[in-house]
Amino acid sequence: MTGESHDVVVVGGGIGGLANALALTRKGLRVRVLEQAHRFGEVGAGLQIAPNCTRILHHWGLLDEIKSLGVLPENIVMKDAVDGGVLSRLDLRDVERRYGFPYMVIHRSDLHGTLLRACQRAGVDLVNDVTVTGYEQADGGAVAVHAGGREFGEVVLAADGLHSVARRIVSDDEPVSSAYVAYRGAVPIEKVAGLDVHPKDVVVYVGPRCHFVQYPLRHGEMFNQVAVFESPKALAGEADWGTPDELDGAFAATCDQVRAGLPLMWRDRWWRMFDREPIMDWVRGRIVLTGDAAHPPLQYLAQGAIMAIEDAWVLSEHVGAQGRGRSADWDAALAAYNAVRPEHCRRVLTTARAWGNLWHHDGEKREWRNAVLRDRDVYDYTYVDWLFGPTARTPDQLPPMFPEYDTPRPMTA
Ligand code: FAD
Repeated sequence: MTGESHDVVVVGGGIGGLANALALTRKGLRVRVLEQAHRFGEVGAGLQIAPNCTRILHHWGLLDEIKSLGVLPENIVMKDAVDGGVLSRLDLRDVERRYGFPYMVIHRSDLHGTLLRACQRAGVDLVNDVTVTGYEQADGGAVAVHAGGREFGEVVLAADGLHSVARRIVSDDEPVSSAYVAYRGAVPIEKVAGLDVHPKDVVVYVGPRCHFVQYPLRHGEMFNQVAVFESPKALAGEADWGTPDELDGAFAATCDQVRAGLPLMWRDRWWRMFDREPIMDWVRGRIVLTGDAAHPPLQYLAQGAIMAIEDAWVLSEHVGAQGRGRSADWDAALAAYNAVRPEHCRRVLTTARAWGNLWHHDGEKREWRNAVLRDRDVYDYTYVDWLFGPTARTPDQLPPMFPEYDTPRPMTA
């Protein structure tokens, strides 16, 4: 590829890649994004974005646009998927008062589109149809290699998702299958008229080896649903797992409200749920991991895209602090980024796994879980303070969290 040189090359134009490109351009750097797809876009339906994300979007001047596209739900309600009973609730108006920024739900393509438009306005060089196949260190920077040539940047940021090519440089780990699969579906709100749904809330039905999420999108004009379940075929080692017959089987014993929503799911595509073991070092020379390439989670805390946006904010703030724009001291900025982000994301990855286990209990454990959740005070923020509070820039700013969720796991360096 020809053309002027860039300070930073970002590989991948998903939410993480675009957030990084925008944040660094705002600090005065020239950024090129290389995306393998023919056009920039997002597949899927809704995303929940918590105050630790809307705070950063506000900082970037994007929150009003995001609010004009999304929904500010009133509550997150957790229910038992078998009997439909309410287990717990978060009052999202109080959440906004406490953290200063709203909890929102938004169509993925609307969040991605807002970032894309902001990148275009800021002058990010956005390039499609480029698949990066390798990376090399270089004098004063690094190189992303693709069929059309080589791209030099003082830093190459790999935002290439779960199956990241760049991750192989720092770890030989592979994606970990949870044997769970997600079905999604977003439909016009009229389609749920007459069903027993909460049009102004995020509702999560938790059940044995399954859960079901519902919330409104696009000013309440659409209704989004996510059905997640453990696949017996995946557990049996079969290659063809997560098929629609398994969807029907997994939810057969759930309450009427859940079963009424199932016919509205898209049945022609599904998403197998993978995460990876946390790794604590995301930097090799001037090649840097970000977003799902660094920390793909199971989605149970709804923090995956948020962590990618936080990565972008933290790195760019350190770049800004280390020197204005193009005179940035990259080594110092990358060391500061690497000192704080892996630890926060490790906590999210391990907590998400534990949270998923809690949601999917059966038998006595389900009874115990329900009793604990019913006891929880609506205004008890112990479980979310460490997530929803301001994003830590340095390790000493990392908030405390629950030790029982912070189970030590084998880690690859
Ligand atoms: P990706 O979105 O995977 O983007 C990677 C990009 O890189 C893609 O555009 C890809 O085409 C490109 N690419 C890949 N390889 C190459 C290459 N070699 N060369 C060039 N380009 C390349 N997160 C939340 O915050 N809130 C939620 O409510 C939420 N709900 C979720 C629900 C489900 C069912 C799932 C599966 C995930 C959910 N997440 C949620 C997680 C969130 O979707 C991801 O964490 C986030 O989208 C990751 O963004 P990314 O840009 O890092 O990676």
